[in-house]
Amino acid sequence: MALIAIEGMHFFAYHGFYEEEQITGNNFQVDVYLEKSTAHAAATDELAKTINYETVYLICEAVMKKKVRLLETLAETIGLNIKHQFKGLSSLKIRVTKFNPPLGGKVEKVWVETSGSFTQKCARCNKPMVCYKDGTCWCNSTPLYKKTTEHLRMNFGNKCLCKECLQFYMGKEVSEES
Ligand SMILES: [Zn+2]
Ligand SMILES: [Zn+2]
Repeated sequence: MALIAIEGMHFFAYHGFYEEEQITGNNFQVDVYLEKSTAHAAATDELAKTINYETVYLICEAVMKKKVRLLETLAETIGLNIKHQFKGLSSLKIRVTKFNPPLGGKVEKVWVETSGSFTQKCARCNKPMVCYKDGTCWCNSTPLYKKTTEHLRMNFGNKCLCKECLQFYMGKEVSEES
């Protein structure tokens, strides 16, 4: 497991709750922290297998260009886009900082941080796995027979199954009776 950081990305942008900020603009900083298993990437030295820093920067840049009112919105949107781009992240943390907010006095900065953790153990084989709850595993959307889904719900509740275990159930009609 490795923690990967892209820290101190600076942007000039027009986000803010007050009209003044939306016109004059402000300085912002974005910090991104990603956790990912890098065993395979280190072995093959393939950038595509791990995190491409430039892609992370481009995602942040694109989000920071769209004017919004809240730092929370920026952090959430960056997080969603990074998850969409990079599958299999164990965890994710985004911090968005605004410098010299217009609060009527000298204030250096305000920041908001959002984070998420996506690791768990497969309910069937107990192997560590990642699930974003976004339709890549049966817990969310299922390329499975209806009876099989019911069988899984019965046995594993709302817990996730790893890819290998899902493979086992795909194309099979399994029910309690069988
Ligand atoms: Zn499994
Ligand atoms: Zn799942």
